Order: sequence, then C-alpha cells, then structure tokens
Amino acid sequence: SIVVTGATGNLGRLVIEGLLAARVPAGDIAAVVRDKGKAADLAERGIELRIADYSAPETLNGVFAAGDRVLMISGSEVGQRVPQHRAVIDAARAAGVSLLAYTGILGGPAADFELATEHKATEQLIVDSGLPHTFLRNGWYHENYTEHLAPVLAHGAVVASAGEGRVASASRADYAAAAVAVLTGEGHEGKVYELSGDVAWSFAEYAAEIAAQTGKDISYADVPAEQHLAVLTGAGVPEPMAAVLVDVDAAVARGRLAGTSGDLARLIGRPTTPISEAVAAAL
Ligand code: NDP
Repeated sequence: SIVVTGATGNLGRLVIEGLLAARVPAGDIAAVVRDKGKAADLAERGIELRIADYSAPETLNGVFAAGDRVLMISGSEVGQRVPQHRAVIDAARAAGVSLLAYTGILGGPAADFELATEHKATEQLIVDSGLPHTFLRNGWYHENYTEHLAPVLAHGAVVASAGEGRVASASRADYAAAAVAVLTGEGHEGKVYELSGDVAWSFAEYAAEIAAQTGKDISYADVPAEQHLAVLTGAGVPEPMAAVLVDVDAAVARGRLAGTSGDLARLIGRPTTPISEAVAAAL
C-alpha cells in the first residue's frame, strides 16, 4: 500500500486527493490517523484507516506492512517531534517498508534556525535506520501568510522582522503534488529534494500584492525582533511559538528560506503556484 501519516491534516488531505486523482485505487491507500472520527470521510471513500498516535509507540505496532511506500508527514507538536518521529521510523523499520518519504525543512542541515532542529534530527534518524528513503525538504507554504490576512487588512500593514529577506514559498497543494510524484513514481530512493517556489518574494512585494488586489493602502512594517514578539504575543500567540516565529524571520533575513532550486517545479512538472494566486484565494 501507499501509506500517508498525518492524513487528516491540511497537507495529508491534499496528498490523499492527489493520489486518488493520479488513479491510485482507494484500496491501495492507507491513512495513519490518530482520530478515527476526523477520518470518517476517508474511510467512506474506501481508504483503509490505521489508527495510531506518534506519542504512543505501542499504537504504531502493525500500522505498516512489508513493502509499503510510506509518507511520514512531520508532526505539528513542536518540541515533541523527535521521540514521536523516532517511534514512527522504528515501526517502519520493524515492518520493512520499501520507501520512507519524510517532509523535512528547506536546506536540511543548513537550516540554522530553531524550527529546523527537529527536522534535522529526524533526517538523521532516518539515515541511521538504513531504510530506503526520500527527503522532501519543504520550504514555506504560501498559506503560512495568506491564512493570516485579517490583521494585515485591519492594520494596513504586513508586520514582520525579516528585513529585505525573501521567501520562496509555494502552495500546500504544490508540496502535496511533489509527495504524490515520489509515492507513485520510481527512482526517488536516496534522493533529497529542496522544495520551494519558483519565485522568492520580499515582504514589501507581498504587501504591494495585497494592496494591488484590495485597492487598500498596505505596506510592510519591518519591526525589530522584540517588537515583532510583542505584536505576536499581543495577538494571542503563545510566547514559545511567537519566539519560534520571530526566529524564522531572522532566518528569512539571512536568506534561509529563499532558495529556488527548481526541484519542486521539476517534480510536479509545472511551475509552482504564484503567491498572487494564494492571496486571491484567501481574499
Ligand atoms: P497540520 O497541522 O494540518 O497537520 C498535522 C498532521 O499531523 C495532522 O494530521 C495531525 O493529526 C498529525 N499529527 C500531529 N501530531 C500527531 C500525533 N501525535 N500522532 C499522530 N498524528 C499527529 O499541518 P499541515 O498538514 O499543514 O503540515 C504538515 C506538517 O508540515 C506539519 O505537521 C508541520 O510539521 C509542517 N509544517 C510545515 C509548514 C511549512 O510552511 N512548510 C508550516 C506548518 C507546518 P490531527 O489531524 O489528528 O491533528
């Protein structure tokens, strides 16, 4: 089977849709989910549910079978992901899966910011496992920004602390399509893909795009890190997560999320989705 973990998340759902669109029979797809109820629609479509929680290693016994091609979608519980991912990798190795694809972070070992730490540790665990693997090092989603347009429109400002830094983001659907290409194609074992958008934009350009589409006066407010942290916590983001996000902006300023290798467009066989389309969809 083709097995997708995190299948009830945003990316996982798009991967399942993509597999079905690529004519993989539903009966050949399995979804690893922790919440059966959330996956009822997948079961209805004939996809096999395998229930497991990354945090409970015993639940991962038997979720993979020999020969499965597995997409391990990284977990969302920042700070807990190394033991969680280790449990998934151990289960995949015990089962003897034929491929383990992992959604890491753009740059891999060169990603020198807080949010990358768990991804780097996970890649090392996968290498050490000896399993045939593919690294899908995902850059930023457009949606990280376009799902948060309300405060931008309310204040007429894109607030960030990224200086002149650029972000080569792509849509979640683009990254999902890359995962589908790897899961359904051949020759991806041992490959490392640096996945990102074709175009790296600056926050000033992003603000100008929103201004153009809305006819409103919107500019980039490039604030110092401490002020950015205060804005985020003031908006209700928990302090540890706000600190991680400010750290990401410092990495953006250093160019760490600006890489445009072209790997994503090559894997999906088309240009990546422009940020303007994600802005339009969000508006
Ligand atoms: P989501 O938060 O929508 O999905 C995360 C998925 O992981 C969900 O299906 C969730 O299950 C599952 N999950 C989390 N913890 C566990 C656990 N303990 N046991 C089993 N399953 C678990 O994120 P996206 O789909 O948008 O993104 C996928 C991943 O990519 C994220 O988890 C994160 O690691 C990373 N990411 C990347 C970004 C980027 O810009 N490149 C931005 C944000 C995240 P459930 O549905 O039950 O909650």
